[in-house]
Amino acid sequence: MIDFCSQESKPLLEVEEAIAKILEAMQVVKDHEVVDLKSGLGRVLAQDVFANVSSPPEKNSAMDGYAFSSKDIINGNDFALTLVGTAWAGRPYTDKIESGQCVRIYTGAVLPDAFDSVIMQEHVIVSHKFIHFPATTQPYQNVRKMGEDIALAAAVLEANKILSPIDLGLLASVGVEKIAVKRQIRVAFFSTGDELQTLGQPLGSGQIYDSNRYTLNGLLTDPLYSVSDLGVLPDDPNILEASFIKAAEHYDVIISTGGASVGDADHIKEILTRCGNINFWKLAIKPGKPLAFGKIGNCHFFGLPGNPVAVVVTFHYLVAPALRKLAGLAIAKKLQITATSLSDFKKSAGRQEYLRGILTQDPNGEFLVSSAGKQGSNILRSLSLSNCYIVLPVACEGVNAGDKVRVDLMPSVSII
Ligand code: AMP
Ligand code: MG
Repeated sequence: MIDFCSQESKPLLEVEEAIAKILEAMQVVKDHEVVDLKSGLGRVLAQDVFANVSSPPEKNSAMDGYAFSSKDIINGNDFALTLVGTAWAGRPYTDKIESGQCVRIYTGAVLPDAFDSVIMQEHVIVSHKFIHFPATTQPYQNVRKMGEDIALAAAVLEANKILSPIDLGLLASVGVEKIAVKRQIRVAFFSTGDELQTLGQPLGSGQIYDSNRYTLNGLLTDPLYSVSDLGVLPDDPNILEASFIKAAEHYDVIISTGGASVGDADHIKEILTRCGNINFWKLAIKPGKPLAFGKIGNCHFFGLPGNPVAVVVTFHYLVAPALRKLAGLAIAKKLQITATSLSDFKKSAGRQEYLRGILTQDPNGEFLVSSAGKQGSNILRSLSLSNCYIVLPVACEGVNAGDKVRVDLMPSVSII
């Protein structure tokens, strides 16, 4: 099969090279702000954080049972201790304790100083004020040591970490109320195209609804970014240029869709060349070849193609890593999965192809992948059904069912 789109005079820039160029151009934001712990979710820590208190702050019981001293154990024999009171979570037992005594204790209650051990309530026999311990009683069990999770003043989390729900809990457990996080990346996006109609208006002949702004808005909904939808622009070079120059003064990144190709109504590349700097235009990717990347003033510019699937693929592989680097995150290497293809795929050499797939496992846990449906770059339905990309390298000339293929999970795939 001949890929007419790959008939270029010189080889196209490969995806990995394009990603490297993009990442090289991104400088991590320096500014930070101090926010309440809850507002830190999904933000990037600007400084290391240290514990204000130990966690746990005092030694306490891991079980409902009886607290006692290991000194009262009689090796190899059962023994009885006198019950003198109760330690509740939040209400410690503070009276003096003598040898031969024990205390009823509940999970999370502070262990009285005199004690170092807890026995589960199921393992003792209670008769009035006497608690009978079996010969198998072990010392030092069921006690959570002070600071066993985090010691006072220890480093809890390091700068440049993205804060997860668990991190918020961890920081709360050591008394941290406010945190310094890197500022949000300011992102603006436009759709471009004379054919685009906004939702709520009837479609005239030749018009389609602008779906890209809805997709992009969803893809950019992340605490790392503050996002502005700047609407639809016509295929008018003057309006496009003026709008881009104005937006570039206020944002870290502009994303446009449409008009990045070579048609007479495609102006993005010329505008970027005229009013900014073009880093590259066009790369060996399918879908998404006509992508223009560069800068207008201090603002990074991504001119994505208009086709809805190309927008998503290029966002996932080229824009998202850029935004994450700007935001201060290290770019982790993706988990790569090899799966057996259940479908045939036609392909010609020349571009790295990202196909929409459905990944499953057979009863032995082996990965299987099938096509999620039609693969045209305008077909959003198969993208909506897919849970992975099947990534076919530049040189690949097609896949037969039974072949092994590389699969990347969709960023939105849940683990449960
Ligand atoms: P272009 O990159 O401008 O040549 O557009 C390629 C294809 O994507 C055309 O069929 C456009 O109509 C379509 N397209 C461009 N922008 C959008 C958009 N915002 N929403 C949906 N389809 C679009
Ligand atoms: Mg267009």
